[in-house]
Amino acid sequence: MTDGTFGTRNERLAPLTSLRIGGPADFFVRVTSLDDLKGAVRVARRHELPTFILGRGTNVLVADRGIRGVVLENAWSETEVEGVTINASSGTPLAHVAAVAARSGILGLEWLATIPGTVGGAVHGNAGAFGSDTAEALVDAVLMDLDGETWTVARDELGFAYRTSALQGTPTVVVRARLRGRPGERREAVARIKEMVNERAAKQPLAQPNTGSIFRNPVGEHAGRLIDAAGLKGARIGGAMVSERHANFIVNTTGMATAADVRALIDRCQTVVQERFGTLLVPEVEFVGEW
Ligand SMILES: Cc1cc2nc3c(=O)[nH]c(=O)nc-3n(C[C@H](O)[C@H](O)[C@H](O)COP(=O)(O)OP(=O)(O)OC[C@H]3O[C@@H](n4cnc5c(N)ncnc54)[C@H](O)[C@@H]3O)c2cc1C
Repeated sequence: MTDGTFGTRNERLAPLTSLRIGGPADFFVRVTSLDDLKGAVRVARRHELPTFILGRGTNVLVADRGIRGVVLENAWSETEVEGVTINASSGTPLAHVAAVAARSGILGLEWLATIPGTVGGAVHGNAGAFGSDTAEALVDAVLMDLDGETWTVARDELGFAYRTSALQGTPTVVVRARLRGRPGERREAVARIKEMVNERAAKQPLAQPNTGSIFRNPVGEHAGRLIDAAGLKGARIGGAMVSERHANFIVNTTGMATAADVRALIDRCQTVVQERFGTLLVPEVEFVGEW
């Protein structure tokens, strides 16, 4: 395999993540169609290289040493409207699904507009907001293994629970997903999207690089409340800081924070919260690459 035949070598991943952190990928390929996606997965397999699929990089902490093997950036965005269902390719931004649904007079998918990831990332981690989640909206999904073979699974086969699915920890790729809403008024959906996006913008530190909620909320509790009550708002390690605005966010204050800074700050939050309140916070963000 040479640079000319398979993507680029040593591509920096930091610009492809919302935290703006992460070392290089040995090989990097941006895919924009099903054929690209299948082709890249098969070439990687033929060369026995591990494959990592990156959506919009909004729920990952990529190690400073980067990711060994091949990183596929999934920029394949395509939607079809089937009645009250949106059939979307896995690289489609969730905000685009929300916009297509609203335009088509489909209600119930507005919350997708508040999550900056892709359809594939949402199915993988059962993303959710405003009391809804992917598991609830999903009808079925097309999956692919590392030989490029595809099959369809119904929602109930995906082992969904709060911010998890059976796909986590496996190399299975989400190819497409069908998300269902209900019939309604376009105007109402558009207004709801605006409301939700504004509500988020008022609460979250969106002007600084971040990766959304760092920890899952413990049952009946908010991770951010515990971190705040432990006095950790504004705590810093290197360029990483617990947001003053929302304690379950860590921001890359200078744009120069390292993955090691963020990870150390995550560890500190876990240790202090556990000492103070006896609760072990579980990260929602995924640590990926060579640590
Ligand atoms: C400002 C902000 C707000 C956020 N708010 C929310 C929120 O309200 N609710 C919420 O749940 N999350 C939220 N997030 C986190 C994040 O947007 C979601 O977890 C999202 O689903 C991640 O999608 P992604 O495409 O960015 O995935 P990535 O971060 O690129 O990847 C995450 C994981 O998904 C896997 N993956 C990605 N695409 C595929 C695919 N096609 N097939 C198989 N696996 C795949 C990756 O390999 C990786 O393991 C927020 C993040 C930010 C930055």
